Amino acid sequence: MLEGTTAEIRERKALRINPAKTCQPIGAMYAALGIHKCMPHSHGSQGCCAYHRSHLTRHHKEPIVATTSSFTEGASVFGGLANLKTALENIFTIYEPDIVSVHTTCLSEVIGDDIPMIIKKSEESGIIPEGKLVIHANTPSFVGSHVTGFSAQCAAFVDYLAESTGAKKNVINLFPGWVEPADMREIKRLAEMLGVEYIMAPDTSDVLDSALEGEYQMYPDGGTTIPQLKAMGDSMATLALGPMASTLAADKLKKKCGVENKVLELPIGIGGTDAFVNAMRIAGDVTVPRELEKERGRLVDMVSDMSQYLHRKKVAIFGDPDHVTAMVKFLVEVGMEPAIVVTGTKGKKWVAKIKEICSEVNPDVEVAAFSDIHYLHQWIKGNPVDLLMGNTYGKYVAKSEKLPFVRFGFPILDRVGHRAFPLIGYTGGMRLIEKITDAFFDKRDREDADEDIELVL
Ligand code: SF4
Repeated sequence: MLEGTTAEIRERKALRINPAKTCQPIGAMYAALGIHKCMPHSHGSQGCCAYHRSHLTRHHKEPIVATTSSFTEGASVFGGLANLKTALENIFTIYEPDIVSVHTTCLSEVIGDDIPMIIKKSEESGIIPEGKLVIHANTPSFVGSHVTGFSAQCAAFVDYLAESTGAKKNVINLFPGWVEPADMREIKRLAEMLGVEYIMAPDTSDVLDSALEGEYQMYPDGGTTIPQLKAMGDSMATLALGPMASTLAADKLKKKCGVENKVLELPIGIGGTDAFVNAMRIAGDVTVPRELEKERGRLVDMVSDMSQYLHRKKVAIFGDPDHVTAMVKFLVEVGMEPAIVVTGTKGKKWVAKIKEICSEVNPDVEVAAFSDIHYLHQWIKGNPVDLLMGNTYGKYVAKSEKLPFVRFGFPILDRVGHRAFPLIGYTGGMRLIEKITDAFFDKRDREDADEDIELVL
């Protein structure tokens, strides 16, 4: 399919080909689904909402619940006030959520709808029932990406809901960043192993990976509860995982309720997980249990066993900034060599950070923010690599260049493992080593001549 791609790179200022990002409301929708009994609401036309729902459904293999203001020509000209008020009335009557989280789209942002004013009017006119809540996040897609949409939605939880009673509790807030439901479950497992009391928001585990038990539940058991969101203002400290996804919410919480925070990279690999465990140990004043030390040791052992296959292998990698940063750190710590690193989201600081991480193993690493998969493909043609890592859209590049390919990030539309098995933590690191080495070994088994095939690797 991409065999026609050439190695000749032309400067493009106003064109993205196979962008390595998608639009802001998808991130807001995903974050809102991590709140218990929350209905994500797309304030715009039906097409936006349908696309965002289907993209999340295809990734999570679960029905994604969300509503829309269903703009038509009238709303596009006169504004979406009437549509949103009608929508809220219908949503609370028919679907009975505890909270509706409104996010905007390109159209409602261009019109300039004042969502806080519409929410206020809806409260005053009794459209929002007693005890129910409506919050909002601005997520125009002509700026930012799905990651900034996720970040804006997390910040909205704090803006609208976090409260400080003045009585501090020995609880740690966790903003997990944009990770899979299985990763969120793993973060909670680590916190529980350490014996730390925590509130995590959002939490899509048991929402987007809930059990099939014979009866459909519009609002599954999981998700951060509204009392938990409110109580975040009384916690001792906040750990924000994934700088781009979580810093905004953590900083707002500090400003609003005085909760100190520490921003960390996603806990992927040995160093990333060590940093998270250590931060939890200090914040919670706890001791790391022996069982967790053994988990770490098992990952170190696996890295050591497989190092001969990983050493100095060149990797092309693309995806969301937080995912890619943590993954690049992991690749460097297991002895691999990131050769080209691409994200679709803007970020000059991110470029500098990736170059710094790679400085010892490959000072010439090519790093591109606000870029695309086409650029990555063209670059690979002139600079061959051993492995490609990224979301499902990378498979066409992998096929064209006959590269081993490891899927990670968002979206993964053609595999199922990401929804069940974490990449976070020491056990997640073992899974990553398995995926990377399997990709190398499968290529050898497939392509080696019969007399060269090794039975034992
Ligand atoms: S880019 Fe804008 S118009 Fe297009 S789907 Fe996303 S929010 Fe809707």
